[in-house]
Amino acid sequence: MFKGSKLYSILFLKCPQCHQGNFLEAHPYNIKHFNKVKDTCPQCQLKYSIEPSFYYGSMYVSYAVGVAFGVAIFVLTKLFNLQLSLLGLFVTIAISLILLMPYIGAISKAIWANFFFSYNTKIANQIRCNTK
Ligand SMILES: [Zn+2]
Repeated sequence: MFKGSKLYSILFLKCPQCHQGNFLEAHPYNIKHFNKVKDTCPQCQLKYSIEPSFYYGSMYVSYAVGVAFGVAIFVLTKLFNLQLSLLGLFVTIAISLILLMPYIGAISKAIWANFFFSYNTKIANQIRCNTK
């Protein structure tokens, strides 16, 4: 499903070039390795950081993704017809964003990486043949 599209790499936190290697050291909710990006892809050896502090730029993406999640939560409260006060709505969105923070940070880094790297069918097929 979506394999070969940037959406696959972002949602499943896979290497933007081969879509097979993991992008992060551990699960986003693993506090010990909190959203730490691997140095290279374990499958295609793509270097994930093209310059020092490369992922600082993902903070801009994180802001946009956070706003998108906030709007989505607002729409969901309206869809389910929850009668929340303004304060209730604010608290609901704030708690949801705090709980989703590790995942938002992870997909923001994946989105940022996908701005600079593209899926390479040739490399992906080569890895698939080597692992079979
Ligand atoms: Zn890779």
